[in-house]
Parts: sequence; C-alpha cells; structure tokens
Amino acid sequence: MTNTSNDSMLDETHDPLLQSWVEGANDRVTDFPIQNLPFGVFRTAAAHTPRVGIAIGDHILDCAAAVRVGLFDALPDAGRDALGATSLNPLMALGRDGARAVRHLVSRLLRTSGDEAGRAQPLRAQILVPMSDATMLLPAQIGDYTDFYASVHHATNIGVMLRPDQPLMPNYKWIPIGYHGRASSVVLSGTAVRRPAGQLRPDPAVDPIVAPTRSLDYELELGAFVCGENAMGQPVPLERAESRLFGICLLNDWSARDMQGWEYQPLGPFLAKSFATSVSPWVVTLDALAPYRCESYVRPEGDPAPLPYLSNAHDAAQGAIDIRLEVWLQSAAMRASGTPAVQLCGADFRTMYWTFAQMLTHHASNGCNLRPGDLLGSGTVSGPGATERGSMMELTLRGKTPVTLLSGETRAFLMDGDVVEFRGWCGRDGAVRIGFGECRGEVISAE
Ligand code: CA
Repeated sequence: MTNTSNDSMLDETHDPLLQSWVEGANDRVTDFPIQNLPFGVFRTAAAHTPRVGIAIGDHILDCAAAVRVGLFDALPDAGRDALGATSLNPLMALGRDGARAVRHLVSRLLRTSGDEAGRAQPLRAQILVPMSDATMLLPAQIGDYTDFYASVHHATNIGVMLRPDQPLMPNYKWIPIGYHGRASSVVLSGTAVRRPAGQLRPDPAVDPIVAPTRSLDYELELGAFVCGENAMGQPVPLERAESRLFGICLLNDWSARDMQGWEYQPLGPFLAKSFATSVSPWVVTLDALAPYRCESYVRPEGDPAPLPYLSNAHDAAQGAIDIRLEVWLQSAAMRASGTPAVQLCGADFRTMYWTFAQMLTHHASNGCNLRPGDLLGSGTVSGPGATERGSMMELTLRGKTPVTLLSGETRAFLMDGDVVEFRGWCGRDGAVRIGFGECRGEVISAE
C-alpha cells in the first residue's frame, strides 16, 4: 500500500497539529477530532425539529443555531439554507464543493487559534449541544439504495460454499456487481431489528415452509451517500465520480440466509435483505478521508484490467481508502452478566476489488440518474484471513463451524437478543485518527 501520493488532496483542515477549543475533540481516541467534522442530523428534547449537526469531540455543532448567530454569513445563501434544513439532502445537492466550503469554515471556527476561533467560542452555549442530549436521526432522505458486492474475498468465500467448482462468476472481475436494494427500510443505528419471517426450504425434498428465519446474519459494509445529480441519460465519467461522493457511513446489510438461498435465483436478493439495513448516524466526508486515500487493490497477474470507463491513473493510485472495520457481538446473556462484547472480525476496506468511484461510474454508465441522498452499499468487507470475515455465513461456514462467545454460548447465526455493533476508524503516522462512530442493532424476536 502506498499512502504517499495523496498530497494534492490535503489542505489546512487536515493539519495534524490543529486543536479545537471544544474539550474532548483533542482526546487521542475520539472519533471526532477537528480533522474529521462529519455531518449528521439530530434533535433534542428541547427542540424537536430535526437539524443538521457536525460532530466535534463529544459535542455537536448545531448548524441552524450557527446560521442564526451569523457564524455562517461567509457562506453563499444556498449553503446557509442547506445548513438550516432538516436533512442533509439540500447540502448533498450542492455537491462536494458545498460541503467542502462548510468544512473549511467550521474548521476555522472550532480551532484554538485564528480570528474565527475568537468569533465562535464566546457563543458556545448557543451553538454546541452535548451528544448525550441529542437523538440522532437518519442523515438523509434516501431516495434509492443500491448494494454492491465489491470484496473479491467475500465473493470468493461465499462462492466456494455455493459453487465449489466456480466460486467467482465470469462477470465478477469485469463488472462491479450490484442489485437495487430497498430504501424504505434503511434505519438508523440503534433501531431494533425484528427477525423476519419468510419462505424457507430447509429440506429440498419437501415443500417450502413459512417461518422466522433460522439463519439471520449481518454484513459488514460501508455506505456512500451520493451528492449532486446527473440528468437521466448522462453517465458519470470516472474522473468526475469522486465529485459525486459526499461521504461514508457504516452499514449493516442484515440478511436472512435461508430465505436468500431459496429466493435468490434467478433475480438476486429480495426479501432476504429488504427487511432492514442499518446505517451509522455520522457521514464522514470524502474530504475528511483524504489523508487515508491509498492505492486501489492490485489485481493479481492473470486478472483482466478494468475496462477503460472504469480505469484511470487517479483511481489506481488513490482510489481506495484505508479504513479499519470491526464487528462486535454481545448476547443478551453477556449483557446480563456484564460480559463485554466480543470482536468477531477485523477487516480492511482498502482490500476491496472495486472502488466507490468505480461503483458509481458503473451505476450511471447506462444513463441512470443518481440523486443527492442516494445510498451505495459497498458489499460485505472481508479480507483473505480467517479473522477478516465480514459476515457470519463466512465466519461459521454457513453455520457448520459455530463460534464460541466469551459466555460459553455458541453462534452459528444470530439469536434474539444479540447486539451487533460495527466500528470503523482510520489511523496512520502523520495524520490524526478519525472514526465513524458506531452502527449497532439488537435482534428482537419475530413475534
Ligand atoms: Ca450486502
């Protein structure tokens, strides 16, 4: 991996020496130092209207309040209006440049030094909300949700179980494979996930039954929110794809493997996945991730090169993002006994076969219009190793080799009361660690 060719994407907001006057933002382990500044939507008990916020340490910068007190007067009207909205869609409509202008201004406002710091700090009681006082909401109204399948390690792990003689379909190395998911059931982290019921065919010798799924699973993914808009009929060239990527969140593509196995041929996943998809509340912008851009996956000898519309020098040299992802699980019994969650997986997003830019360009290559607030799932992030399997289906070989938890319980798939939590963060020498917060959900019974 090379991390050295991304200097052109770095600016003053990435300076590792920047400190904030907001306590907690300079804590070495916070996910939200001043170098991050992710966007979200929240409300409080005192003010029910949803409003745009920016995470800083263990506080939220209330953007509507900052507009009211004049801190954003330097922004164009459209930017100020977007920050006073009840979702991120208007800000996403302004494209990467709109969010970048906000990032630069907020970075200056929240620093310990410089003229802007002197303007903001005296107003802290009006513009800062402790995270503990806020309820987070879905960051955007998601018009469409598409889920990809971009990890060759995940695709291979799954393929070996389903088709031992041909784990990867012939199209895998040519096409960023995806399917159209369900936007209405994308929920915020913290929302309980009811075990879905559906058609299962546990015994191929007898007719299918209708029952709660017996093989509920998670999929460790990242979600990318789209910004800007291309008119229908207008593809998005790869060199413009990153200008259409607003930012990234954690995403859990909950999956019912038994339902999936029965229904997926010939048109792909349907009810096995549309019952719930969880996302984390904070959207980390592509700009914040600039220090962590790296060389995209180096295809082994013998693999085809991407077709020209999916290939350019920038994407090859810096198209990937070095994000560490983790899956943690805590059963109801573990919670009751005070046993901490156990880590089931740690995987690196940079090992994906396709970049988000390639996925977006491929998505729009037929002229499909992608709109602000659309969500792209990366596909399950798995690495080549045994500890890098981003779903339980891979971890337990479809339930054949259950894992043993710290409580002594075993899991082939998820049980009611299990809490699944994803975490993600970036760190390297010469840059400040930034994180994504968490994406969690508790499985509740089908009844
Ligand atoms: Ca998925």
